[in-house]
Amino acid sequence: MAKILEVKNLKVSYHTYAGEVQSVRGVSFDLNERETLAIVGESGCGKSVTSKAIMRLIQTPPGDIKEGSEILFKGKDILKMEDNELRKLRGGQISMIFQDPMTSLNPTMKIGKQIAESIMIHRGLSSKEAFEEAIKMLKIVNIPNADKRANQYPHQFSGGMRQRAMIAIALACDPNILIADEPTTALDVTIQAQIMDLMKDLQDKLGTAIVLITHDLGVVASVAQRIQVMYSGLIVERGKTDEIFSNPQHPYTWALLQSVPRLDTGNKDVLYSLNGTPPDLLRPPVGCPFAARCKYAMPICKEEMPKETKLSETHSVSCWLQHPMAPKVESPLKAGGAK
Ligand code: SF4
Repeated sequence: MAKILEVKNLKVSYHTYAGEVQSVRGVSFDLNERETLAIVGESGCGKSVTSKAIMRLIQTPPGDIKEGSEILFKGKDILKMEDNELRKLRGGQISMIFQDPMTSLNPTMKIGKQIAESIMIHRGLSSKEAFEEAIKMLKIVNIPNADKRANQYPHQFSGGMRQRAMIAIALACDPNILIADEPTTALDVTIQAQIMDLMKDLQDKLGTAIVLITHDLGVVASVAQRIQVMYSGLIVERGKTDEIFSNPQHPYTWALLQSVPRLDTGNKDVLYSLNGTPPDLLRPPVGCPFAARCKYAMPICKEEMPKETKLSETHSVSCWLQHPMAPKVESPLKAGGAK
């Protein structure tokens, strides 16, 4: 599959009174056409900053995308695009949905009109045609009575329906890439599952590539083809979804997986919770950023950053435990993975 997005050595800082916060510290990854890539990690790990950088939504100042960073969309660097190219890109070629649709939807405008506006801007249809398209989109995202619902305001929609409406707006212009930033966090578990099913379904039907940003590994298992785990502004493990669930190798990924409820091991009642906090990115540690919270940490971990080790063509991890001289450590997860 062809690469549609290539992020190369992305570094993003924020200048604050206390100093420079290095939120993203050299992140590189690709997104292929028609695939779903999940970026997973705790809040503050740099996943949302990465997604905002892709949309060129980092406000400068205080934000600062560092020299040497590249974000190529179909080979063209988004970071060097002129305003008119950016306008075309946002919404037309790359769309984004956020955690809380209420902050993105206009409370004073009917839902159908909001979808139609986006269609008119990017597809040049008349307002009547665009409104008809908007109703079609509401049907595609499984909103019942779409004709009637199109004439309602956001407050007349439930949380799950508002998120569906946001997805309809995001997909109305048939973008190449959809970035979904914690799209289900504000929703209850049943609705979360429905929204994830919907996104998978839409990807199958429309072929949109998706970057799914989440703190919850549990929601990505059935949706993403690949997963990359971020910690402290870095990618610490990446691989195909099966590789991450059946053969995770980074202690942080182990911790994330232990906090996912599993029916097969019965850990659904007592979930693992990771102690401590991520490092202060005003002064990032020289060694492994996870060292202060890692029960397997060795002296080298605090002194030197581990290099990325390839475990397969698609799976790699940055951890000193992969060094041939390191002690053999068994994954705390039971055999069989965490799916
Ligand atoms: Fe733990 Fe060391 Fe691996 Fe970091 S490099 S995750 S501290 S074992």
